[in-house]
Amino acid sequence: MEPDKRTNLLDLNRAGMESFVVGMGEKPFRARQLMKWIYRRATGDFEAMTDLGKDFRRRLADTAKISVPDVLISQNSSDGTRKWLLRVDSGQAIEMVFIPEPGRGTLCISSQLGCAMDCTFCSTAQQGLNRNLSTAEILGQVWLANRELGYSPDGNRVITNVVFMGMGEPLANYRNVVPAAEVMMDDFGLDLSRRRVTVSTSGLVPQMRRIAEETNVALAVSLHAPNDELRNVLVPINRRHPIKDLLDACWHYVDRQNARSVTFEYVLLDGVNDQSRHARELATLLRGKPAKVNLIPFNPFPGTQYRRSAEVAIDRFRDLVIKGGVVATVRRTRGDDIDAACGQLVGRVADRTAARLGERLSAMPGVHG
Ligand code: SAH
Repeated sequence: MEPDKRTNLLDLNRAGMESFVVGMGEKPFRARQLMKWIYRRATGDFEAMTDLGKDFRRRLADTAKISVPDVLISQNSSDGTRKWLLRVDSGQAIEMVFIPEPGRGTLCISSQLGCAMDCTFCSTAQQGLNRNLSTAEILGQVWLANRELGYSPDGNRVITNVVFMGMGEPLANYRNVVPAAEVMMDDFGLDLSRRRVTVSTSGLVPQMRRIAEETNVALAVSLHAPNDELRNVLVPINRRHPIKDLLDACWHYVDRQNARSVTFEYVLLDGVNDQSRHARELATLLRGKPAKVNLIPFNPFPGTQYRRSAEVAIDRFRDLVIKGGVVATVRRTRGDDIDAACGQLVGRVADRTAARLGERLSAMPGVHG
């Protein structure tokens, strides 16, 4: 088979798209038209792009493509949460989750196949890092979700927020994540405001400093512990970039970006980091700073040594942080019935999906799973 040399347009940000069309002898504004078709109307077919000349459309079909991951499974939760399992390589899958809430719809996407950060409470860590996703694989997730969800009957956009909180460490895939985020914020891309595209990081300090200069997304930081001793265990990258350096990078980010605050994620693990003293220590760390704390009830997965904190412990923790002078909220778990909750990506789902695929295959005549 001839190798496919066509350029996947989902790999290009606006500047890339402009040089691509100029390379084809077209005017740069054609890039904006193309992006509108691709991202606003979720079109994947050049023939349908009727405001482009016939000849240009034909040449596009020869040199370009709009290629996205395959949808393996798509599931709906009773609470409206949707989850897709997407194939990015033969036999390898990533997950994407859409969480509707009153007045907003958040799409949670993946940035890597697996992850190298090795956080002890995260199921993705168990598979290690396989590879970075390409820009097209990242934007392909958004494209697919947009195509399926699009606009509500009253004409409002269904996806209002995108968070890099699926599989992977987005700042470890800086080169591909940044152009993808740019397209999400581009007027001719998804046109989301910069506060509505959130990169969540386990704390890659050098990349945090770099992104502060280069683009303007919202930043969330997975803190999970109020001191280095504990954080070294839960989030091992802390041994390289301890809390003091991490927080310095956060405040620098807020300054450079003129942002309102950084969100600190804190997963509550029963008896590990959820005691009163941890709440007080956390408040002391963040008091008076442009910080918000988002407490996440731990989502268990098979083989984990951790347990979710009891409801009362979660409430007490939140109250103590607030009393300590820091804004704190608890993230409600969504999509429980389809394992779509944060941190449950792929690990157990992949097993179950594999099982289900196996069932389907063995139900087909002549196939034995
Ligand atoms: N690597 C990035 C983004 C992916 S994880 C990061 O670390 O921020 C998105 C969030 O889910 C992170 O805050 C992560 O710590 C949290 N998380 C991971 N596993 C979890 C679990 N089992 N239960 C609850 N939250 C979890």
